[in-house]
Amino acid sequence: MQTYQAPLRDMRFVLHELIGTESLTSLPGCEELTPELTDPILEEAAKVTQELLAPLNVIGDTEGCVYENGVVRTPTGFKAAYQAFRDGGWTSLAQSPEWGGQGLPESVNKLVEEMICAANLSFSLYPGLTQGAYHAIRHHATEELKQIYLPPMVAGQWSGTMNLTEPHCGTDLGLLRTKAVPQADGSYLITGNKIFISAGEHDMVDNIVHLVLARLPDAPSGVKGISLFLVPKYLVNPDGSLGARNGANCTGIEHKLGIKASATCQMSFDDARGWLVGEPNKGMRAMFTMMNTERLAVGVQGLGVGEAAYQSAVSYAKERLQGRSLGGVKHPDRAADPIIVHPDIRRTLMTMRAWNEGCRALAAWVAREMDTADRSTDPERRQSAEDFTALMTPVVKALLTDIGFENASQAVQVYGGHGYIRDHGVEQYLRDARIAMIYEGTNGIQALDLVGRKMGAHMGRFLRPFFHPVAEFIEANKDDAQIGALVAPYAKGFGALQLATGHIAQVGLKDPEEAAAAATEYLRLFGIVALGYLWLRSAKVAAAKLAAGTDEAAFYQAKLSTARFFIERILPQAAPLLAGIKAGKASMMAMEDAAF
Ligand SMILES: Cc1cc2nc3c(=O)[nH]c(=O)nc-3n(C[C@H](O)[C@H](O)[C@H](O)COP(=O)(O)OP(=O)(O)OC[C@H]3O[C@@H](n4cnc5c(N)ncnc54)[C@H](O)[C@@H]3O)c2cc1C
Repeated sequence: MQTYQAPLRDMRFVLHELIGTESLTSLPGCEELTPELTDPILEEAAKVTQELLAPLNVIGDTEGCVYENGVVRTPTGFKAAYQAFRDGGWTSLAQSPEWGGQGLPESVNKLVEEMICAANLSFSLYPGLTQGAYHAIRHHATEELKQIYLPPMVAGQWSGTMNLTEPHCGTDLGLLRTKAVPQADGSYLITGNKIFISAGEHDMVDNIVHLVLARLPDAPSGVKGISLFLVPKYLVNPDGSLGARNGANCTGIEHKLGIKASATCQMSFDDARGWLVGEPNKGMRAMFTMMNTERLAVGVQGLGVGEAAYQSAVSYAKERLQGRSLGGVKHPDRAADPIIVHPDIRRTLMTMRAWNEGCRALAAWVAREMDTADRSTDPERRQSAEDFTALMTPVVKALLTDIGFENASQAVQVYGGHGYIRDHGVEQYLRDARIAMIYEGTNGIQALDLVGRKMGAHMGRFLRPFFHPVAEFIEANKDDAQIGALVAPYAKGFGALQLATGHIAQVGLKDPEEAAAAATEYLRLFGIVALGYLWLRSAKVAAAKLAAGTDEAAFYQAKLSTARFFIERILPQAAPLLAGIKAGKASMMAMEDAAF
């Protein structure tokens, strides 16, 4: 059975105890965000996601979306759920009050996003893409466009899309062919075909606001000649009411492995009227505002599915009776012991749990830095927060989605054959999670972004807000009575990351193929070391609470146990990753293409 209860206790732990309430309430506009205010929001989000969205997850997977004559019907219950979701104010949570939003920080929003993705990944894409489009319009569009489009998008009456991909161009957007021809009134006529457009057409909103990448006449070739346009499904009258249908049509939807309730649309733009967003030929810059928001959000998709998969696996492991505990029979009254007694099942569950809680802590850290970059009055602090967010965006996107899929696969394993068949719903998690490793730039491309753009940027400046606090923490805690024993092995993992960074910087300068060959292992190493640091800090908080005396001893003991598991059983993967990185490109590049 798919099981999901929002992990509210752990969410409160990362928000208030690990990242720290004060680091949020000290930011302008967040002064009132004490636990008394944020906890009821998280509790309400838990209710909405568990009661409204989770029950539609299997229905969405079974029915999928239906395309008929240019119209897309979402599965039974989706439209009503979206209306309730919108009426509850969940589409406007983190948007600026200037545009009708509630102005909550990302530190809270990312936790709510995790719940939505865990409950129903397909559903999450509709408000998720609208949020990304909101950011691109807010930062790059003219005041007039903002006035027309942002309020109904924030209110959830209109949704947004991101139209990049064309049949011949996915990763390499420099190849794109969609054209934009300027008109005398300042608008543009857009013509071209896009594929794989999430939420390109559906029945849950009154209007759809497409953000479309296209080329102006005589634009330079490659990515330097791409501009961004806002193209609504329905043109908007000056009074804000909807006018004529624009030439932006869905010509079909894809039939796919997972997220079947998310409409993945083929779009045809035929002299569709659009408006420039940002400067001509600088469309990639504007689109990156949306893509960076989306990359972090996609990372959280992986975390959400990974958590739901973990919970489903735990509930089955406690129920399923097979074999007897090697440590002595645990339930003599039953025909067999539940499988949770077996070390291999416990290894699997601990691995999933250690990844999930670590990934949640990483997402929370990045969210807090996003809020700092957005709101701090200290320019130096803002800069370091921006650097950190830029550095961690590819890590969050790729690590959290890889882990989401690995966890979904482990959940299937815990269910055995009953996981592989459809009845229990865990194979849906596996199918749904797979896409997050592909869209918003494949995980291989995220790794290239980390080594190619982020690692060496400004002489390594982006690395500092990560490396410095970690090094200081190791120094300050290596002899700590409570966590010192975990710090020593962690320092080895951190050392491996330092060595790998130096190695790639050196060999990559001479030969970029060497850096590219090391990229995926480097990103995983980076992720493991980042999570290890957060596990040490979590252990420190937990140990202090236990030492001081608490009525939540079981929770903090579990934190300590999981921290130890991560440091002893997952962090050691740092050594083979470093070995792979140092081995270099030779063995993978040696064979002729024809030999494959
Ligand atoms: C369900 C779904 C929803 C989607 N939603 C949207 C959406 O809303 N909007 C949108 O615009 N697009 C969307 N996409 C498209 C998605 O972003 C692309 O599929 C993705 O970016 C990869 O492009 P591609 O499929 O053309 O693969 P390709 O670019 O052809 O890549 C194929 C493989 O080659 C690798 N590769 C390519 N170039 C390099 C390189 N330089 N170095 C190393 N490896 C490389 C890739 O990592 C990948 O493994 C969606 C796709 C799907 C399936």
